[in-house]
Amino acid sequence: MARCKIGKTPDYGSGVSSRRVTLNPKVARRSFLKLSAATAALTGAAMTAKMTRKATAAAGTGKKNAHPGSQMIRSVCTHCAVGCGINAEVQNGVWLRQEIAQDHPVSRGGYCCKGASAIDMVTSEKRLKNPMKKVGGKWQKISWDQALDEISNKLLSIREKDGPDAMHLNGSAKVSTEMAYLQRKFAAFWGSNNVDHQARI
Ligand code: SF4
Repeated sequence: MARCKIGKTPDYGSGVSSRRVTLNPKVARRSFLKLSAATAALTGAAMTAKMTRKATAAAGTGKKNAHPGSQMIRSVCTHCAVGCGINAEVQNGVWLRQEIAQDHPVSRGGYCCKGASAIDMVTSEKRLKNPMKKVGGKWQKISWDQALDEISNKLLSIREKDGPDAMHLNGSAKVSTEMAYLQRKFAAFWGSNNVDHQARI
């Protein structure tokens, strides 16, 4: 893990939080895909609507304590299971800025590059918000219905031709517990035990 040598995290007084698939015919394949996609989409949409709007207006000042009335909230990076500490500056429920948690018992003031840009998950202009398809070498936005239909049909053709074990579902440290649960459920209904985690490969 890369260490970042920066100044001591300022004391924010009372604003700092304390340390702290056998295919089941009863389940329609497409419905399950829709449910999974809807869960991810709703999560992303909620984060976008609530967490980025005001952040954009206040961002880019380059000053410490640039956001009056903000609080520094102790949190963790969710990009992998290490759980490095993040001090997140929040104003009116909106995540505005992050700092390294110098006193975190796990990361001790360290980040890797993913943690250093954790706030980009909710503020980056480059966030993926729609299904994308590469056509003729170029990415183009497609509808959720089109994405679900095309992926469902492709998966079905693979299964019919080579069997359920022809597919492998690879988890990621970036998925939430709920997303991992849905992924494992999908594999079970699909009829395969080919599920693993990125960290084991
Ligand atoms: S991804 Fe996040 S939790 Fe994992 S090592 Fe990097 S900063 Fe730490």
